[in-house]
Amino acid sequence: MICELCGKDITFCRKVTIEGVQLEVCSECAKFGVEAKKEEPKEQGPRPIDTQRLEFRERRGKPKDVYESGGKEELTDDYGVRIRNARSTRGMTLKDLAMKINERATVLSKVEAGQMTPDDKVVKKLEKELGIKLKEKVADVLAGKESKSASLSLADLIKMQKEKKQA
Ligand SMILES: [Zn+2]
Repeated sequence: MICELCGKDITFCRKVTIEGVQLEVCSECAKFGVEAKKEEPKEQGPRPIDTQRLEFRERRGKPKDVYESGGKEELTDDYGVRIRNARSTRGMTLKDLAMKINERATVLSKVEAGQMTPDDKVVKKLEKELGIKLKEKVADVLAGKESKSASLSLADLIKMQKEKKQA
């Protein structure tokens, strides 16, 4: 038996795939390919190392994220804006609000500016005092973002095509 890659005389050959070609090679050359056995996806050879790991990570990441986020509520990205809007519609100053919920105005100003993440206790007080929602289910937030960006890009695309036609 001769290694199809290096030509070395071998007693035991290994079936590997190297760049899509099945070869019977020595154990040294087997390192350059993927073992034919599919049951054990060993990470060896140039093809699978990058692509397989990436695919694996993606495949593993998506369902897990969805699963973990099920029903969990998280602070919205625009919590600061929501607080400021609700506060100003009620004609409250930062100081007024701070006094009502027993927090410091400097802290609230940072929170409104999005420079500080309020802890759960503060979030609850703000939601109660201002009658707003600062937390949303993660899945909802993500879905909202996705559809928003999708419709945006679609609108942009249509706009661009219209402009192209006019030009
Ligand atoms: Zn060889």
